[in-house]
Amino acid sequence: MDSLQLFLDRFRARGEAETIWLKEIFGFISEHLCPELSEPAPLAADDAVTGVCADQLSVCLVRKLQENMAVTHVLPVSYRPVSVSGLLSLQHLACVSNPSWTTNQQRAWEKEAELSLPGHLALPRVNLLLIGCLREGPAGEWRLTDASGSVRCECLSPSPLWLNRPVFLPHWNYIPHNAPGQNQEVRGYVELIGSPALLCPDLEQGLAARPGEGAGLSRAVGVREAAGLLDNRTRGQRISVFGLVGSVCPQLVVAGTTFFCFWLTDESHTVRVLVKDISRQWWTQCVYVGLSVCVTALRVCVLRGWRGNNILCVTEQSELHTNYTHTDTLLDTPPPLVMSHVDNEDCEEVEPETDKAGLRMKKSRVISYQGTVTQVVSDGAGLYVIDRKVGLCLAYQPATRRKLRAGDSVELHHVHFLYRPCPDFPPSMLCTCLRSSLRVTAFSRVGGAPPPDSAGLPRLLLEKNTGVSEYLWTCHVSSQLAHSLVPSLLKQQSVSALSWKLMESVWRRGRGGRRDIYSEMLDEPHTCPLSQYSTDPAVHQYLSVSVLIGSLHSECWSSVSLSSLLPPGGSSLSRSQLNTALAWSCRTLTSALRDGPRTGDALGRRPLLVGLLELPTPTSEPTVQLRDATGAVACVVTETSREGGQRAAFNTAWIGCLVCVEQFTMVTERFLQSDFPSYQHLNQDKVYLQFSLDHLHILSPSVAMATHLGQRGEELGGDVTERKQTVEEEEMEGATTAGRKRRKASVTVTTGPVGGGFRPCVSLVIRVEQKEGVVQKVQGVGLTHCFSVRAAVVGPVVSWGRDPKNGPVTDRETETEREDKVVLVLSGGSARWFPLLQPGCFYRLTAPNTQDPSVLIGRGVSGQGGVELHTDPTLQVRSNWRLHTLTRQPLQALSPTVLSVSEVLDSRSDMVCFQARVCDRISLSDRTSSTAAGVCAGVRLTVWDQTGRTLQVYLDLSHTLYPSGLLPGNTLLLSGFQRRVSRSGGVYCRSLPVSCVTVMSLGDTSSVRPPPAPMMHLGVWAVGREQSGIVGRVRGHVVCFLFLQLQWSCSLCGSLYLQTCSSSQCPSTSSVFQSKAKLVIDDGTGEAHVWFSGALVPPLLGLADSKWEGLQRALRVRGHVRVYPRGRSLVCDSDDPLLHFLLCLCSSDVVCRQLSLTCRKPNQQRSEEMKRFSRGERDFMTRVTPPLQLTCLHLEAV
Ligand SMILES: [Zn+2]
Ligand SMILES: [Zn+2]
Repeated sequence: MDSLQLFLDRFRARGEAETIWLKEIFGFISEHLCPELSEPAPLAADDAVTGVCADQLSVCLVRKLQENMAVTHVLPVSYRPVSVSGLLSLQHLACVSNPSWTTNQQRAWEKEAELSLPGHLALPRVNLLLIGCLREGPAGEWRLTDASGSVRCECLSPSPLWLNRPVFLPHWNYIPHNAPGQNQEVRGYVELIGSPALLCPDLEQGLAARPGEGAGLSRAVGVREAAGLLDNRTRGQRISVFGLVGSVCPQLVVAGTTFFCFWLTDESHTVRVLVKDISRQWWTQCVYVGLSVCVTALRVCVLRGWRGNNILCVTEQSELHTNYTHTDTLLDTPPPLVMSHVDNEDCEEVEPETDKAGLRMKKSRVISYQGTVTQVVSDGAGLYVIDRKVGLCLAYQPATRRKLRAGDSVELHHVHFLYRPCPDFPPSMLCTCLRSSLRVTAFSRVGGAPPPDSAGLPRLLLEKNTGVSEYLWTCHVSSQLAHSLVPSLLKQQSVSALSWKLMESVWRRGRGGRRDIYSEMLDEPHTCPLSQYSTDPAVHQYLSVSVLIGSLHSECWSSVSLSSLLPPGGSSLSRSQLNTALAWSCRTLTSALRDGPRTGDALGRRPLLVGLLELPTPTSEPTVQLRDATGAVACVVTETSREGGQRAAFNTAWIGCLVCVEQFTMVTERFLQSDFPSYQHLNQDKVYLQFSLDHLHILSPSVAMATHLGQRGEELGGDVTERKQTVEEEEMEGATTAGRKRRKASVTVTTGPVGGGFRPCVSLVIRVEQKEGVVQKVQGVGLTHCFSVRAAVVGPVVSWGRDPKNGPVTDRETETEREDKVVLVLSGGSARWFPLLQPGCFYRLTAPNTQDPSVLIGRGVSGQGGVELHTDPTLQVRSNWRLHTLTRQPLQALSPTVLSVSEVLDSRSDMVCFQARVCDRISLSDRTSSTAAGVCAGVRLTVWDQTGRTLQVYLDLSHTLYPSGLLPGNTLLLSGFQRRVSRSGGVYCRSLPVSCVTVMSLGDTSSVRPPPAPMMHLGVWAVGREQSGIVGRVRGHVVCFLFLQLQWSCSLCGSLYLQTCSSSQCPSTSSVFQSKAKLVIDDGTGEAHVWFSGALVPPLLGLADSKWEGLQRALRVRGHVRVYPRGRSLVCDSDDPLLHFLLCLCSSDVVCRQLSLTCRKPNQQRSEEMKRFSRGERDFMTRVTPPLQLTCLHLEAV
């Protein structure tokens, strides 16, 4: 009778199905398991195993299955045995198998799994039986093998006794590996839950004692004795040690050698055991903290890497006995204390210390912890969340073979507890180092593989070894950059390198010290890179462009109260003054100066931007743009000129650079078209950035920037070491530059201006002399931008075999005597060059794909009737032509004549070009027409220079693009402006269509204060002609009050208001309280008449708010009062109590006192005039020089 029949007879099958199933089982065992067992394998050489034949194994398997089943009298015919290769090739979804489950048990299991991790689905059940042999794989892996192949097997606490045994897995998960391009061997793995069922019953009893083992065990010594033996090393001695496992360090591969260490402890002593033998690496899965073990045949070795200390080493003869109980001693060491939650109250540790570099450093605590992984933040970066609120970082350990999954229960020993190392992560963080043990105690029941992400960061961490706070920040930024730069600007592979570079430049960190792996694993007391960490709650926060713009837009109106937009004393403004004051306002936020985090605010921490610098698009405003994949933002940019000092950006090499902007000002201009007191208003806002290019970090330079930096390096004496890296890393255009060493770029920008290569082109070197403003012109169906520059032609048109870009100027490009002029007209696509073409700078204009020099020669402009006009020749710049700034100037640049405010005031010319700082701006809105600039039809700027003289500049914005950066505090270059004199003789400027406004340097727009006004003596001020328009400080005594007027005025027309407006046609229903005063001040050198109005009047009169309000109420009925303290009113109306009060007040010591005033002298003073004096009964007429008239701007009591 054959063995199949014997087997079938053993189980009396009920029906056809069971017979077929039994035959299948028998066939499977014969085909897949028996050949595997007959192969010579280290332990399987036992006769017991090789002698087993298919029928015995099959009987054993069916018995085990029946033992496992809830219903024992039926066979699990729905379960099919699957070969290892079948599982790997056919099973593409994660799954679970457990033949013993009833349907109800399975549903309960599913429900529990899904309740514990909402949003995840429990693993689906498959009816598959896994049978094979557990074997030792490479580098400590356990593998389930059969004749068809093998699969990695993860076990929770495997016993050494399972190895090389035929087994049936009663409960397992299969996790396929979804990453493409991997070979079959690593394509998936099996998670073994519980113990496998050994398929040789007779073996189970005989396992305990094997020949040769008893001797090792019986001579085993405790840890204390072993520690003693370590100090007195005897050559050739082998010892067996028993104890509790105190630590298990992660497995390391150093220079091709795989090893790990574990600690054995008793109540008082510790010994370290080094497992270097390749055939014992499988122990990594068997030993875990708290397990009692006995290890035999250990040898005392000197570990050179660990400062020559002695250590116990595992030998080829060593055996591991787990759950070991020594006959004499009971190991009653209490299990290590394990935390399962973290109280926030416990977490605030001592105040961080500040180290030498000024960093706030904290010390971490070492704890043990157990919990459940609830989120996989980034597998590649080794970041997880446990119990929904504790972060876990595994990056300081080598990557584990099995990636943690959400739902895994883990036990961590000797793990560092950090509190708030990085604000982008949970406050409580657990971080593992080379001393820490991570053990999975239960496999997750849910599926869903995390998306594959870049594993580049732990590699960089290994190379550069930075602190954990820095690493966490980099990981967070990396995940954000992956969204905001990939794929349109960057390749996925570049993100890690870019984030790292960003961290190094923002945190100003270089490479950390080398890690000493043996000290970290074996030293007591323990130190490692995680022992200390820096804390900075205000660390930079990366924002994508769209998030930044969005939050600026949303905050600009929510953060504003209308009254805050009004000047002091806003309550006395008339309707038109009020609406004008509200029409424009701006909110500026600087990136650097934030007072620590504010909650619920996207801009709470110091923001950081990353993007590509670009020229404007044909539809956007003519400024440089910062763009990422989420959006673009306009930028008003300046840079340091060759001579030092700020000026408008001029270097075209910036275009195409991927940069990090760390210091910048976020500007939100608010336009409010209001018609208060009626409640109609229309608000708009405009968001942009202001920064100096000097503060950028170049993350990936453009080719032109690399050339520029190379040239600058040469200029600075050939020291290009600092820049070398940048040059090597640029690969943006893929152009091969001769003679330059190239390496694989670490940061590669995927798009950018394309050009270069071996294409012919012609070029012309020019020096821009004058730039006109951008105007909008109707072309075809839409509007197009257009501007022109007047330039000097420095040399002849030169043809090239390859685009010279911004390379150094060659001699043949400058070899002409005579300098011709040319007018370049840039419209449509070529208008994008507007933000970078600046007067005084040299550019190379190149026309690609041609060798014809005539394309770059300007043509005369034909006037009407073909008459050639005597103007400079004109050249229309085509949209594919490029301009490159030549920072190494071929000639001395002639700076255009730029005047100061004082020079403009004193000038006689009609057209002026001047530079000045803005101190005030108001909107001039044109309510009758909607303009191209939206609600802002015009602007009046008040500008000043160092001397304190001011000038008003009127800009008509109805036909030009609304310019950014016209903010108080900024310095502007205003060219092509018309200088005019008003009817009263004051000088002002107004824009013409050719006018151009350029922001030259950025001021602190948040606190604009004119320069401290100079101290003036009234005697000098009265006679100085050139000092008109200027603001000065005066310290003097109030001689007398000349005039005081208090009045309720109509807010609409300004007439007197008593219940209604006194003007008959006026429909107004609102009034404002207005006040005016004039008095005589004497400072010892002379006298002046000073006007006070609005908010300056109550402090001048020494009246508190309550008294001032009382005065307003008292005037409600009569509407107004005028007081001439030195005039007739003193005599006439002295019985009026209010008048009497005011008269007394004006002549009291409260008012007639010492004052410090800041005053402006109006541009035009009255000239000599006739005046009537009364002396007694007689009047005299005399010609007098009128007293100096001043307007008070600010008042201070002395
Ligand atoms: Zn550590
Ligand atoms: Zn009125």
